[in-house]
Amino acid sequence: MNQIIIHVDMDAFYASVEMRDNPALRGKPLIIGSLPHERGVVATCSYAARKFGVHSAMNIKEAYRLCPDGVYMHPNFEKYRAISAQLHDIWNTYATASEYIALDEAYLDVTKKAGTWEKACDFARTIKERTRNELGLTCSIGIAYCKSAAKIASEEKKPDGYFEIPTAEAFVRLIEDRDIRVLYTVGEKTAEKLHSFGIHTVRDMQQRREDVLRLLGKQGQWLTQLAFGEDDRKVSPYKPEDAKSISRELTFQADTEDYGFLRDVLFLLSMSVERRAKRVNLYGEGVTLKLTYSDMKT
Ligand SMILES: [Mg+2]
Repeated sequence: MNQIIIHVDMDAFYASVEMRDNPALRGKPLIIGSLPHERGVVATCSYAARKFGVHSAMNIKEAYRLCPDGVYMHPNFEKYRAISAQLHDIWNTYATASEYIALDEAYLDVTKKAGTWEKACDFARTIKERTRNELGLTCSIGIAYCKSAAKIASEEKKPDGYFEIPTAEAFVRLIEDRDIRVLYTVGEKTAEKLHSFGIHTVRDMQQRREDVLRLLGKQGQWLTQLAFGEDDRKVSPYKPEDAKSISRELTFQADTEDYGFLRDVLFLLSMSVERRAKRVNLYGEGVTLKLTYSDMKT
């Protein structure tokens, strides 16, 4: 066996932490992010809130329209970061390399420490158990022979899920009738393009390899391989020096045309970017300024 990879993803992380720490919130539609009268989006919401159609990245006004009786809270990042560090301690017991995707999500390369598939599955179940016992939280875990399969596996039985995809054959069987959006790097635009040429499922992609290559070039190459279960990407630990960009942004709660004020804010954001760049010894080759107008055009 070449690789054994675990993808671990905490369930509704910010919301679960708040419910753990305040029993009065349990079972409630809890929405972490901006408050309804503010500008901004939903960061995370509880499963009770999802029943109303609320989801991450949704405009907070839309969330409020769907779920006016929800409990709305600002995130407490300091707390989540501390818990994330505890999670890393657990994960790193079993992994030789950990690639953190977010505070609550990572790929773990357990190939060497586990040695066998069975032992790796034991690791995965132990991680779930320890997360519950030591932190009072649940996670979903996918374990697979490659990163793409591990990621899809962790979503398969969410929340509190556990799912194994031991081989490329098992992976292909699972996804071949699904929409191509299931494949890593297929976003809205790529999907639209392929759909318009009648390529809808992973099976279509397998059968129309030439068309996909013609339409998508290099990305098509990767996708047609992935459609057959081929993904040899390694788990690569995050290193700040590999950063492609460093950015800071701020959403104003009210529109402003006060250029002096905007200049001051821009100055503070620039300083923050500078501090981060210096901390990891990086310099930039270009500067991009993003500005959102009152009609939300950017
Ligand atoms: Mg998560």
